Amino acid sequence: MTSPQTDATRLNLALTELRLPAIKALWSRFAQQADKEGWPAARLLSTLVEHELAERDRRRIERHLAQARLLPGKTLETFDFTAVPMLSKAHVSAITAGDSWIGKGSNILLFGPPGVGKSHLGSAIGLSLVEKGYRVLFTRTTDLVQKLQQARRDLVLESAIAKLDKFHLLILDDITYVTKDQAETSVLFELISARYERRSVLITANQPFGEWNTIFPDPAMTLAAVDRLVHHATIFEMNVESYRRRAAEQAKGRGRPAQRATPANTKPD
Ligand code: ADP
Ligand code: MG
Repeated sequence: MTSPQTDATRLNLALTELRLPAIKALWSRFAQQADKEGWPAARLLSTLVEHELAERDRRRIERHLAQARLLPGKTLETFDFTAVPMLSKAHVSAITAGDSWIGKGSNILLFGPPGVGKSHLGSAIGLSLVEKGYRVLFTRTTDLVQKLQQARRDLVLESAIAKLDKFHLLILDDITYVTKDQAETSVLFELISARYERRSVLITANQPFGEWNTIFPDPAMTLAAVDRLVHHATIFEMNVESYRRRAAEQAKGRGRPAQRATPANTKPD
């Protein structure tokens, strides 16, 4: 007969080998409790297995969160919906549930001038989705285009685009910042075409579609890209004053909107 000490040592070695770290950390405490309280053996087993599964989920989400490269601190909790009255909080919440659109490869487009919270909202939606088990990648569009251009030069563009399939949602921040030389290689068009009706993209843009001709090599391709993007899409127009500017003005004028304060202050006496 083996001693309890030897059993424990063997068990721990086996649990390491089997890669079951949660059970390894917890079994002795739960075994003690089970002995003391007279648990049926099945209850002990299922308790341990459930802890391992929960721990595995937690680690997976942690990994996906690191891979997503989201903007730190930009969450839906820190997003002030009253600053963007045309944006329905209920609609955004429904979107973060994910299942109604992300499985179908539908898209989200966020339009508005600089500083209105497009990147913040995009990243926050990404965060909610990662927490629900989806995989997301947040990237400046110009950075991703640069990588894809390199892949094209190395003759591996197709596989580079295919690798992005593992992300249910690709957040392309500031699509209109794509430069003229980047547009000419059309890798962005190929990415959009490859994901069409299969994998979602969330795009933020300072410029409306009418100004998108600098993103793609020619007007026909711009039209084709826009067509694919909007076919299954939710579009949010965030046409408000810059949150950044408003915050700065409020700090200066102690809450008084600057444009109202100015005429009174500058009136000649
Ligand atoms: P955009 O991408 O539209 O240029 P950002 O998302 O970068 O704007 O927002 C600029 C700054 O203002 C960020 O620090 C962001 O967190 C903050 N901000 C913008 N809109 C809001 C909002 N409605 N609630 C809270 N913070 C906001
Ligand atoms: Mg931005």
